Amino acid sequence: MTAHKILFLVLDGISDRPCPELGNRTPLQAAVTPILDGIAAEGACGIMDTIAPGIRPGSDTAHLSLLGYEPEKYYTGRGPLEAEGCGIHMEPGMIGFRCNYATLDDQGRVVDRRAGRIHRTEPLSQAIQEGVDLSPLGVEFFFRSGAGHRAALAFRGEGLGVAVTSNDPKKEGVPPLPFEARSGDEADRMTARALAAFVAQAEEILRDHPVNASRRAEGLLPANTVLVRGAGKMGYFEPFSTKYGLSGKVISAAALISGIGTAVGLTRVDVPGITGSVDSDLGAKVRAAREALSSADFVLVNIKGADEAGHDGNVREKVAFIEKIDLALAPLARLPDTLIVVCADHSTPCSVKDHSADPVPVVIAGEGVRVDRVTSFNEISCAEGGLHRIRGSSLMPILLDLLNRSPKYGA
Ligand code: ZN
Ligand code: ZN
Repeated sequence: MTAHKILFLVLDGISDRPCPELGNRTPLQAAVTPILDGIAAEGACGIMDTIAPGIRPGSDTAHLSLLGYEPEKYYTGRGPLEAEGCGIHMEPGMIGFRCNYATLDDQGRVVDRRAGRIHRTEPLSQAIQEGVDLSPLGVEFFFRSGAGHRAALAFRGEGLGVAVTSNDPKKEGVPPLPFEARSGDEADRMTARALAAFVAQAEEILRDHPVNASRRAEGLLPANTVLVRGAGKMGYFEPFSTKYGLSGKVISAAALISGIGTAVGLTRVDVPGITGSVDSDLGAKVRAAREALSSADFVLVNIKGADEAGHDGNVREKVAFIEKIDLALAPLARLPDTLIVVCADHSTPCSVKDHSADPVPVVIAGEGVRVDRVTSFNEISCAEGGLHRIRGSSLMPILLDLLNRSPKYGA
């Protein structure tokens, strides 16, 4: 018997280093995780450098590598992938940016880089999309809301560069910075001019928008400007279905990860109630994953909260969230006709409060897998498993081989 489907679970930043608070165990070692341990006991385990040993991955570059798209070749900055994740269809050559709604005072100084943590900004973004006109510059633009105060912008046009500075001063009490070309290239100067025109026109629209009028009336900060950063040019991604012969879907609360998914040709599944935070509705995500597997060969699920706890350096919260994930995964542990892969995209040690290059635990379970002796899913136990130490880019080839779909190399 051979499985035909793949459930690919990425537990974002779940991997860690020994924590003194936990008697020098990692949060994964300390947490009670019967479901993950059961998958480890029935699978082949290992540790994995998602990009390469010693390379400290971002979530974006790590996911590209796990899906088999070398970040060295395919990664062109976070902007275009974030834009794709916000629902802008990014064609090769388009320029993407990440944006924040922010608040300026009467003197034009930034008083809040997140506009009072505003959310549900769709009416503002729609007004900007309809009201701003960059056609005199020969630029077509797309502007969409993301989660909370976040948004994304994309430009389409001839002769646009990406070497431009951000207007985000990264602190409060000072005015936004001017957009500047980082080079003498006319293309970069053109993009800087288009960005300046975009923000100036957007501010006009935001100033008197009813959403901001009612926020002022309620004593909330208005979203009266847009900070723009992370310029990047969208590249060409060989479609996942062509590369592997598998149809695929992606489930993630993080726009960046769904953007990577749709950029490579996975279909995005939206799940109400998932937040990408420790309060996310994991049950809804797990149900959506089961449902998605009924109509796709490959489903990528990213579960984000443990990364956030790691960035906060909150060991207890990380352990608690790992246990919450474990409970939620019960319905996925034994799916018929399906290989299940569980891994992280990178370590986010609580002691570092950022990503580190420590390899992550990985397990593959299902039909045809050579089961090893590892019976718990954590950084230390998995290092003794049958997969040994692999790279993220090896995962898809290993999975394809287990599906008996790997092309033969040689005679
Ligand atoms: Zn991550
Ligand atoms: Zn992170």
